[in-house]
Amino acid sequence: MRLKVSIRIFGSLSDLTKGVYYFEINPGVGQTIKDCIERLGIPHTEVYFITLNGNFVDFSKIVEDGDFYCVYPHCNLEIDENYSLTPRFKGEPRFVLDIHLGKLSKLLRMFGIYAEYGLVDDFQIVDRAKKIGGIILTRDRKLLMRRDIVYGYIIRSDFPEEQLKEVFEMYELMNWVKPFSRCLECNGELVVVDKESVSGRVPPRVFEMHDEFAMCGNCGKIYWRGTHYEHMAALINEFIKQIQ
Ligand SMILES: [Zn+2]
Repeated sequence: MRLKVSIRIFGSLSDLTKGVYYFEINPGVGQTIKDCIERLGIPHTEVYFITLNGNFVDFSKIVEDGDFYCVYPHCNLEIDENYSLTPRFKGEPRFVLDIHLGKLSKLLRMFGIYAEYGLVDDFQIVDRAKKIGGIILTRDRKLLMRRDIVYGYIIRSDFPEEQLKEVFEMYELMNWVKPFSRCLECNGELVVVDKESVSGRVPPRVFEMHDEFAMCGNCGKIYWRGTHYEHMAALINEFIKQIQ
């Protein structure tokens, strides 16, 4: 026997369904609303709350013939915490990015945002995010459909700067910006070091021209305020102006 179930989605969830907001589907008997929503290509991590005929339900609700569900993305609507299906991330965000988001990881680090990158295997990414209580950023919806993932976001855009904007808005990153505090190569934190301590470790001309140096506490890479720095500073200022 097939059932008929209607699902209305709202807001940014339609980014994941090619702009379509309303669906009539025919799930089998015994399927949950979580199964139905994921069939539409929406991972549970994107869902804030669900209602059935105006009443809150959770992911384990078994769908019945004639049901009409409304599915909402994370937004500013205040609802009782008991009905929120995925908690909002609290505190300073830490991200674990999938292997397709290398440029985004560097941009996040440039703003001082914690961004781990480099793990190829999905299981490793999930494990790592769980271990550090982090948020998975990915373009792979299947990755976020695993039941045990608490925090995750599907990156919508193909373009790194647009992706950065999405993540800034979603996680209110302006509160956590600390430019030039993190290594672009490895995500380690930078510490200010004496000029003398970098003698022989940077090109002689750089040593002559600069007095302030910082070093990555993890990989040892040395940073100074050269032309690359100025370019990044301009980029950071421009970006902040755009999103304010
Ligand atoms: Zn480093």
